[in-house]
Amino acid sequence: MTESEKMQEQQNESTDITEETELTSSEVDADKNSFEGETETTPQALDEPEVMQSEGESDNEHNDDSPNFENQTEEAIENPNGTGDSFKSDETDAVTLAENSQGEEKKPSTDAIKKLLSNKTVLIGVGIAVVALIVIGLFATHTICFHDWAEATCTEPETCNICGRTQGEPAGHNWKAATCTEPETCSVCGATQGSALGHSVSEWTVDTEASCTSTGLRHGKCTRCGETVQETIPKAKHTPGDWEVTEEAKISPSGTITPGKKARKCTVCGQVVETESFTPDISKSKMNALKKADSYLSWGAFSEQGLIEQLEFEGFSQEDAEWGVRYCGADWNEQAYKKANKYLSWGSFSHKGLVEQLVFEGFTYDQAEYGVSKTGL
Ligand SMILES: [Zn+2]
Ligand SMILES: [Zn+2]
Ligand SMILES: [Zn+2]
Ligand SMILES: [Zn+2]
Repeated sequence: MTESEKMQEQQNESTDITEETELTSSEVDADKNSFEGETETTPQALDEPEVMQSEGESDNEHNDDSPNFENQTEEAIENPNGTGDSFKSDETDAVTLAENSQGEEKKPSTDAIKKLLSNKTVLIGVGIAVVALIVIGLFATHTICFHDWAEATCTEPETCNICGRTQGEPAGHNWKAATCTEPETCSVCGATQGSALGHSVSEWTVDTEASCTSTGLRHGKCTRCGETVQETIPKAKHTPGDWEVTEEAKISPSGTITPGKKARKCTVCGQVVETESFTPDISKSKMNALKKADSYLSWGAFSEQGLIEQLEFEGFSQEDAEWGVRYCGADWNEQAYKKANKYLSWGSFSHKGLVEQLVFEGFTYDQAEYGVSKTGL
């Protein structure tokens, strides 16, 4: 508001009320014309107080006691067109001011304002709807989310229950040390890793000793957890004895060798724990001794001892003679029977006398008894 306008306002202030009242009737008439034509220019005389009224009203916003304001309100009630009129002063205040400054006044009609208003409302409505849709869309696609964070677990970071987004790091397991019977275990989720330590017993008391044929039993206290632990003692190993010939090798006088078999038995349980076949080592002198033994057996009956002595008499060494007799393949029981028959063909013998004669010839007592009995004596 310029200085001159203020001055004019002050001058008009005193006559304002009367002027307004007077104007009210003429204004109605004037307005009839001006409202019918939308952009019709209102008479200068009528317009001036109108502008003053607007300006007075602006002041009255800060001073409610102003008679101008009260008058305006009365006017609004009395005047059938007051609503529009009053609105015009309110809403187009800036417009009027602008028009006033240009010195050329144009009054927008109520219809136009209403139109503008309704257009504005529609535009605002559409705007709000679009914004609402966008916001709903953003929420629906989880582009925007008021996260509802679920606490981080051992293996999962903090996770939103709504959109599934995560933040931070997993909490990690809270490992509890492994025990005798349990592996390392997470006290939160129960996950395990590694294996249980197993009991640790340093001093065992044997309940049953293990042997090579049966397991044993022992118990002891775990030094870690104090529990009494019982366990089986595995079977003991066999104790192998010396090698024994279980089947003699056979060597024919022509030199064909059939390997023999030997075995080792456990000295505790007697079980055969190892077997082997064997071939005796043969020298020329040994083979000759064997051949000589074979030829003696072909015409006479000999005891084992008698045949060895015969070969030694022939000049073979004791070792060769024994070797030759061992592999000659003679059945000494049958030799005893043959020898008994020979004695019986030469003379009369008692059973006892013939047995003693055969033992004298080098047979064992059992061999002699077998041979004599077989003759029927
Ligand atoms: Zn979320
Ligand atoms: Zn865990
Ligand atoms: Zn233990
Ligand atoms: Zn054994």
